[in-house]
Amino acid sequence: MKSRIIIIVSVILLAGTLSAFQKKESVRFYKGNMHTHSYWSDGNTYPEEVARWYSDHGYHFLAITDHNLIQKGIRYRVSGKDSVRLKELTDLSKEFDKKDEFLLVQSEEITDAAEKRPVHLNGFNLSQVVKPTGGATVSECLNSNVVAIRQALEVDGNPEWISVNHPNFGWGLTSKDLAECGARFFEVFNGHPSVHNYGDSVHPGTETMWDQANKWRVDHNEKLLLGTATDDAHQYDKYETGKANPGRGWVMVRASELTPAALYQAMMNADFYASTGVELEDFKVHKMTMTIRIKPIKGVHYTTEFIGWMHGQDHAEVLATVSGTKAVYTGTGKELFVRARIISDKDKANPFVWGDKEMAWVEPFTPGEK
Ligand SMILES: [Zn+2]
Ligand SMILES: [Zn+2]
Repeated sequence: MKSRIIIIVSVILLAGTLSAFQKKESVRFYKGNMHTHSYWSDGNTYPEEVARWYSDHGYHFLAITDHNLIQKGIRYRVSGKDSVRLKELTDLSKEFDKKDEFLLVQSEEITDAAEKRPVHLNGFNLSQVVKPTGGATVSECLNSNVVAIRQALEVDGNPEWISVNHPNFGWGLTSKDLAECGARFFEVFNGHPSVHNYGDSVHPGTETMWDQANKWRVDHNEKLLLGTATDDAHQYDKYETGKANPGRGWVMVRASELTPAALYQAMMNADFYASTGVELEDFKVHKMTMTIRIKPIKGVHYTTEFIGWMHGQDHAEVLATVSGTKAVYTGTGKELFVRARIISDKDKANPFVWGDKEMAWVEPFTPGEK
């Protein structure tokens, strides 16, 4: 009798372990664009054409982030004598959402300004419009908009899912603004031609700002800022560099299912990477080590740079450079954080700027912390 109980208990335990194991195994990468526009604001096509473009091009989720509104209510596109009522997101979801294949996430680009500088943020999974708060200074404006989005999401019991957009658009934000705003995400890459991802002779690029912001966050015991790549597409007719076209940057999120909750949770856990073309088979952070496996394309060469900030230094630096499709970095314990960027020698089609190669960014971690 006793042994029978033990067997039953063992079977139950084994089944539990198996299902936990299977659950872990069932995660997969979902490709998403988290920033785009339609006729609801200043995009140049109907929202269903926007959704169609992304669902036809291998994406799994899309946030249509029109300026200061969500796709809800009555709005017309007026052109000459024609006036067409725009579809609401609920209609679009009925048309495009398909379990585990495609998902529209109702979102808004809160479009504000202070000190004559643009301050733009995306709020994701919103059920109501968030009005821009304004603010006397850029940092006040940014911080109060983060709070406004947080509060709007809280009404539905949704967690804060907020990105700070294109920090160098209109040279709007500094790394200090990014550091102190409280948002978990920002756009390290945005495909719109006027956003200055790479900075200029007097302004740092978004990657440098990212590291500076994270130095501040580590010093202040705050969660690391995570980077996304997005399109910020406005133009769906003519495709060329200099136009705000779709297909320039996206995120690959490793989630258990295609729902806002699962995508959000994975992103909060830094279980995603940003890409302009490079695809990863896998990446893993375990204790001191980050391991990356790149999905090879025949004839394409890959260089992975592990970029980190060492304790006591006043800047981030390339800590290691690895050639090939597998890259491993093991921390020394003296890194405040380390992230990876992968540069291929494959030209990006219809790039943000001429000469861009396909790239990917793996999110920062602090060796030994996880
Ligand atoms: Zn914007
Ligand atoms: Zn935008």
